[in-house]
Amino acid sequence: MEKTYNIALLPGDGIGKEIAIEAKRIIDFLAKKKKLNINLSHELVGGASIDKFGVPLSDETLSRIKKCDAIILGAVGGPKWEKLDFEIRPERGLLRIRKELDLFANFRPALVFDPLINSSSLKPEIIKDLDILIIRELTGGIYFGEPRGIEKIDEENFKGVNTLLYTSKEIKRIAEVAFQTAMLRSKKLCSVDKANVLESTELWRNIIIDTSKKYPDVELTHMYVDNASMQLVRNPKQFDVIVTTNMFGDILSDCASMLTGSLGMLPSASIGILADGEKKAMYEPVHGSAPDISGMGIANPLAMILSIGMMFKYSFENELLSNNISEAVKSVLEKGFRTKDIFTSGSKQVSTSEMGDKILEELDK
Ligand code: NAD
Repeated sequence: MEKTYNIALLPGDGIGKEIAIEAKRIIDFLAKKKKLNINLSHELVGGASIDKFGVPLSDETLSRIKKCDAIILGAVGGPKWEKLDFEIRPERGLLRIRKELDLFANFRPALVFDPLINSSSLKPEIIKDLDILIIRELTGGIYFGEPRGIEKIDEENFKGVNTLLYTSKEIKRIAEVAFQTAMLRSKKLCSVDKANVLESTELWRNIIIDTSKKYPDVELTHMYVDNASMQLVRNPKQFDVIVTTNMFGDILSDCASMLTGSLGMLPSASIGILADGEKKAMYEPVHGSAPDISGMGIANPLAMILSIGMMFKYSFENELLSNNISEAVKSVLEKGFRTKDIFTSGSKQVSTSEMGDKILEELDK
């Protein structure tokens, strides 16, 4: 019997809901066309879950999505929930999924589609044919380290504490993923740290060097994060695969998004590998819920659609469908269709759902 793929779709908040509609249309279409048994369930996360259950991710939701083959998430957060206690804010729902499923390896490709070369704020020659991959450690570092919190020192003074903590085990497993990925690409890996001032990233560097002995074919370089952010803008094509910590990866990948023209173009995959080799994975655009444009029908759904492409590649080992999706995106852009964020004069502006229509038309060919 054909395998059934169980996918949980968590639209979340703001434009997350709008782009999730396009995600569902693409998946339903491909399931029908390619005769795939896909079982797509809807779940709540973030503000949407707070409004219904009082928490950003309920235990019941977590237990259901844990059983799925893949999770697709839109985006969470928004001004409505910003005043809530830190522990029940929408973003905690997302962090809880990453942590509970141990999705430690976050793949963030930054790929410049030729037709978008003029949407970037950088000169065309700097970004033409750019294809880099940032691998961000996702379940450790300063976003999770203890102690954390805001404490009163005395009547007038408070202290805010976060802890940048990495164990050698956590570094080792992301290092393995990074070297293995580099082997499949151009065999160039740059590890980004701040080993000159932060001890935890000195450990990071030592373990990366240690792991490199297993991969003599990979050309390994190290860069401090301040330099890396500058180099990403100065000459991004010097990089192929970058591996870095949770917070540095968060910041560098947003920076890389502007190389590609818009945050609305950047997909991501977060992967965890269980002891028995089984993969757990969540796919989501890099951007947030964009409250400033939510409800206006202008959000770019391409980061979400490209994330579905990554799902076919990484979770279902269907590289062909993944390529079909990338080709469809490329073709729609070549024909001049643009959402507002990537619009340039001479191109044709389309809404979120019209962009979905155009991708479906291409996939139908
Ligand atoms: P954001 O990514 O939501 O938006 C930044 C800017 O990029 C905005 O001007 C927005 O309009 C634009 N933008 C983002 N995605 C776009 C798209 N697909 N199409 C067109 N334009 C797009 O970041 P922010 O404004 O800092 O955060 C807004 C909310 O999202 C906050 O509550 C934040 O905590 C949350 N957030 C969630 C995630 C996530 O769910 N993974 C990630 C980042 C931020």
